[in-house]
Amino acid sequence: MTNIINGLQTAQLLKTAISNEIKSLEHHHALRPGLAIVCIGENIASKIYVRTKRIQAKEVGINVQEYYFNQSIPEADLIEHIHSLNRDPQIHGIIVQLPLPSSLNMRRVVNCIEPSKDVDGLNVLNVGRLACGEHTIVPCTPLGCLLLLRRQCSMLSGLRVLVVGRSILVGKPMAALLLQQDCTVTIAHSKTVDLPQLCQTADIIIAAIGQPLFIKKNWIKPGAIVLDVGINRLEDGRIVGDVDFKLVSEVAGAITPVPGGVGPMTVACLLLNTILVTAQQNDVPLTYLPLSPLRDAWCPS
Ligand code: NAP
Repeated sequence: MTNIINGLQTAQLLKTAISNEIKSLEHHHALRPGLAIVCIGENIASKIYVRTKRIQAKEVGINVQEYYFNQSIPEADLIEHIHSLNRDPQIHGIIVQLPLPSSLNMRRVVNCIEPSKDVDGLNVLNVGRLACGEHTIVPCTPLGCLLLLRRQCSMLSGLRVLVVGRSILVGKPMAALLLQQDCTVTIAHSKTVDLPQLCQTADIIIAAIGQPLFIKKNWIKPGAIVLDVGINRLEDGRIVGDVDFKLVSEVAGAITPVPGGVGPMTVACLLLNTILVTAQQNDVPLTYLPLSPLRDAWCPS
């Protein structure tokens, strides 16, 4: 029978551990993790995501500071603001909510975040460290996917994984992470030839393309694990993933729903990264969470 992977439940387990960790940090080290969220412009979806992050961060005890700027802000002014957050000892983690208005260069802006505070893991130094297999801050969505996979498979080594999508936010770091787990990784993208055939060879498929219901039932190897990262709004207002969930769940061994799959894990992993960087910057040990969730093969239980 197909296992519907409950991302909400796993995220809740993770958040409970994070909340306990924050109480311990406050009690033993008088430390309260601080997260700065920088928002530019009036993107409605971004506002919803930021609200979710704020609510959940406050729930676990993170001190959230939000900074809003008009979309006409000169890039130099935005960068100067990020530098002041880099210098602020009360701020341990910084995210710049994406996408940015077209007047701003995303790579230049993100690269101004001090790498040790870059809780989205998008600064080029952290991207490079992940590609080299070094200890680093891992982007939240791929980290969330890995934690979900660990709860499904005791052994990822040797499994054939197809990552569909090659963005810097999801596809590329996902592939790098799974390579570190000794999976055999293939990356597909919009120019890939014969995607259905590639899907049929995969033990695990991770779909991150932003195309509603794109991955079909007859592309899936029976028993495969399917993680659906996509978030797409249909004309009738429904939110669906990149995978045709209803039919694919008839053949997959395990599958994430949308909503309620990868999404909640992304937010929980942002909170996790904020705690990890707080501990690292202050050189204090953690009690409930490992400092490196990758190396320690840790998953919430
Ligand atoms: P993105 O930057 O637009 O990248 C999309 C990727 O998909 C690109 O690499 C593109 O290929 C590839 N692609 C597009 N159409 C394709 C097709 N027909 N066949 C094969 N590959 C195709 O998007 P993203 O930021 O990675 O996000 C992907 C989806 O995940 C979106 O729906 C987004 O909303 C969602 N998302 C969800 C979460 C979450 O927490 N659940 C987090 C982040 C993103 P090319 O490179 O060749 O153009």
